Amino acid sequence: MGRYRGSSCRICRRENLKLFLKGDRCYSDKCAFDRRGYPPGEHGQLRPKFSGYGVQLREKQKVKRMYGMSEGQFRRFFEIADRKRGITGTNLLAMLECRLDNVVYRLGFVSSRTQGRQMVRHNHFLVNGRKVNIPSYLVKPGDVVEVREKSRNVQVIEDALAAVERRGIPQWLSLEKENKRGVVKNMPVREDITTPIQEQLIVELYSK
Ligand code: SF4
Repeated sequence: MGRYRGSSCRICRRENLKLFLKGDRCYSDKCAFDRRGYPPGEHGQLRPKFSGYGVQLREKQKVKRMYGMSEGQFRRFFEIADRKRGITGTNLLAMLECRLDNVVYRLGFVSSRTQGRQMVRHNHFLVNGRKVNIPSYLVKPGDVVEVREKSRNVQVIEDALAAVERRGIPQWLSLEKENKRGVVKNMPVREDITTPIQEQLIVELYSK
């Protein structure tokens, strides 16, 4: 199945959670979830009844859409996480956080993961001094992620960095704002992911 191309705000309303998919708009009074915090559609204001499977499915959809991934990509990430040592759900979340499109978002170089994916594809970033244009590239501790010299004055990056304090930088990353450079200090741990996610539901869904 291809990537979802409909309204981002519809996803937040469907998943009943602000997923911050639209950058600065998400922090403004234009946020559709703040205005209409119920599911979209004709029956959106009726209380939805989900079965056990439905709850698991919604949780998976929420996380998959939050990171802007296709079903196939998300499933592959899960399978790799499942083969690693440790708790599968925690491994999965750590891998998702380490995607390059998420890291440039977390470092404040872009205002959303969607923008991160686009900017990574357009060659605006270096990892350890080398061009990387693969959004799903996984960073590791010690990696240096920086804006390319020729992209340093790109307005989108300037604007995003100007608002970085509002979003905050997670403890597993450090940012040298002036140099537009960040370092991966360590792998993210479960406590670093503050969005309400019940990853065990995703593990249960894929383990059926
Ligand atoms: Fe979600 Fe609100 Fe951002 Fe739209 S503006 S993507 S509803 S958080």
